[in-house]
Amino acid sequence: MPIDYQAAIRNAVEQVRSEGRYRVFADLKRRRGDFPMATWTPPTGDPRDVVVWCSNDYLGQGQNPVVLEAMHRAIDEAGSGSGGTRNISGTTHYHVELEAELADLHGKAGALLFTSGYVSNEATLETLQRILPGLIIFSDELNHASMIAGIRHGGGPRKICRHNDLEHLEALLAEAPPAAPKLVAFESVYSMDGDISDIAGTAALAKKYAALTYLDEVHAVGMYGPRGGGVSERDRAAADIDIIEGTLGKAFGVMGGYIAADSEMVDAIRSYAGGFIFTTSLPPALTAGALASIRWLKQHNEIRERHQERAAALKARFAAAGLPVMPSLSHIVPVLVGDPVHCKMISDMLLADYGVYVQPINYPTVPRGTERLRFTPTPFHTDAMMDHLTGALEQLWAKCNVARLGGVAA
Ligand SMILES: *Cc1c(COP(=O)(O)O)cnc(C)c1O
Repeated sequence: MPIDYQAAIRNAVEQVRSEGRYRVFADLKRRRGDFPMATWTPPTGDPRDVVVWCSNDYLGQGQNPVVLEAMHRAIDEAGSGSGGTRNISGTTHYHVELEAELADLHGKAGALLFTSGYVSNEATLETLQRILPGLIIFSDELNHASMIAGIRHGGGPRKICRHNDLEHLEALLAEAPPAAPKLVAFESVYSMDGDISDIAGTAALAKKYAALTYLDEVHAVGMYGPRGGGVSERDRAAADIDIIEGTLGKAFGVMGGYIAADSEMVDAIRSYAGGFIFTTSLPPALTAGALASIRWLKQHNEIRERHQERAAALKARFAAAGLPVMPSLSHIVPVLVGDPVHCKMISDMLLADYGVYVQPINYPTVPRGTERLRFTPTPFHTDAMMDHLTGALEQLWAKCNVARLGGVAA
């Protein structure tokens, strides 16, 4: 009997579909100078204007003229690609400057670039287990898929800690053999709930049990701290963290990932991590754009203040309308739907009938029963856009009979 590959592949997709988590990508074209507006091309019919409400370009830096100008200039000066891996002709002057800037941003001696935040987490966490045999990783249960991938690929022992639960973390640390090398891996802003971890408290526990600390600041860099160094800068806790990881693709508006740490740590990851070594380095235009973006954000705290004000304004509108906005300490505004079919339906109707684009967040990104819409207001979302959005949600909540104020969907 020959293997029916096609049936197996089809069944795999059917499985996803039957669980209500088949992903449909919205075909968008962002319009420069008009953020957060985009042109949406529906599967049938004419392209239409939509307001994007779920971009991770949190501060609109993807359209900041300062960033675009730096990218244009880099193309004109150096061409398109970097031309190689970092070791073989692909370390351009832009990479060197950007790593120095990132080290400075986090108050560390060094930094190391990767092609994405995903790769930086995956490669670093895997490599640390090779450099430190027997390393026990204490990982928050809500850590991002890229951290989980790195931890798993390293193959070493791991302990899953209840989310942001320092008592549980301490219990796990205390149980582990005192002589074993240890690492606590966590995030600052958790992007699905919008809550923020206790960085100083976590670092203090790690110190007590002689563990290293690894902090993913992907949803905070550029947005928190007086210079955009993240929550660890805001909380003056960066010095207590051994490795800070971030992305250049969200608030910085470009693409790429990095770690910042002391020189020896950076040197070790640089020397061992396959995901760093065996891949073409970022193109000059991206590194130049990221550099310009980081420098600009260091000096424009007012955009961070405006960002927080906009998030608070949206939360207040939703709360006043009785919509079940989930408690969030950050710029992220999740609204509970609690059912994957309703969640997708509301999102589809928002797009087709109201010109509002927000992607449904379903399992496995969030636990079943906590399906939600996740809004990311930026400094460029106006009061009028917020009023329109709130009105649309009120109508759809009534139409779909979804519970308000955190109840269960009828
Ligand atoms: C998006 C994300 C990443 C990956 O960053 P990319 O640069 O998009 O690859 C890592 N960690 C967290 C928490 C994220 O949300």
